[in-house]
Amino acid sequence: MRAAAQIFSGTPRNLARLAGVLRAGGLVAAPTETVYGLAANALDATACAEIFRAKGRPSTDPLIVHIRALVELDELAVVNDAARALAQAYWPGPLTLVLPKRPIVPAIVSAGLPSVAVRMPAHPMFRRLLQLARLPLAAPSANPFGYISPTTAAHVRAGLGTRIRHILDGGPCPVGVESTIVDVRDPARPRLLRPGAITRAQLEKTLGVKVAVGARRTAPHTAQLAPGLLPRHYSPRTPVILHDRLAPGNARGAAQDAWVFLARPPGPRRANIFWLDARGDLRGVARRLFAVLRRLDDAGFARLHVERAPDRDGLAHAINDRLARAAARG
Ligand code: AMP
Ligand code: MG
Repeated sequence: MRAAAQIFSGTPRNLARLAGVLRAGGLVAAPTETVYGLAANALDATACAEIFRAKGRPSTDPLIVHIRALVELDELAVVNDAARALAQAYWPGPLTLVLPKRPIVPAIVSAGLPSVAVRMPAHPMFRRLLQLARLPLAAPSANPFGYISPTTAAHVRAGLGTRIRHILDGGPCPVGVESTIVDVRDPARPRLLRPGAITRAQLEKTLGVKVAVGARRTAPHTAQLAPGLLPRHYSPRTPVILHDRLAPGNARGAAQDAWVFLARPPGPRRANIFWLDARGDLRGVARRLFAVLRRLDDAGFARLHVERAPDRDGLAHAINDRLARAAARG
């Protein structure tokens, strides 16, 4: 077996060293505001091939390219006014834009698609890495393909610890769910490919047009437009059952099952009752969702019963999307 991954704190010295690893074509797992990413030089096809190998990710699943400055967007993609308006409004932040790609982007990054997904992350440590490496960085979530995305350095090590060597520790990710992905290749007909912390309502407000939901159906031989849209993704091994509302009474008499509420339920604490945020605040729910699913997946329960988020908030769309994928079988 290979040497285990080393976890680095974000000291200036460590950041410089890890930027050197990236410049030399290596992989570095690093925190973003959404989830931890497994980064490599986006302009180096060989380095990006290592991402796919480490994750066990199929080559049909394209990567998001992370940038530090707006000029890089124009170098990588053919930009239009809709993309500029969204970048202006939400970057740096958890929004990914899909645009026609320029030839500089290796085919492996876009899974052979003529489009590329680009994002400017807000996390200070990731931004520092981008600045020191002076490269755009391709970075999918730093987890084995199909499992729950990592939101701590320990999650990264648990999944990829024998397959990568460098993990930058920036603490828990502040957003906790992957970026919103919007296809703006046609500025008049934007499409939301993956819901995230930037909501559809926000996108519509900025663009002044309706935003359709989901990928347009493409020919079966082409790479899927948004692999995060696979029905089964972000999945624990333990079966997940979703509920519109949970009551404390549900948990009685089913000790082998875990019951996961959005907010702390009234009544006595029980060993199989959990909650995602004490007050049910959806930002807190999103932030802790993946960590709680991972912990309960390792705890030996027969089933995980989870309460869906109420649909009054845009973030509920992202949370319920991840829950639906966690619950999908096969
Ligand atoms: P991950 O970070 O593991 O969630 O993977 C990156 C995500 O970016 C994929 O799941 C895709 O949904 C999306 N993506 C990357 N490139 C493209 C593209 N050219 N078109 C559409 N979606 C993309
Ligand atoms: Mg992923």
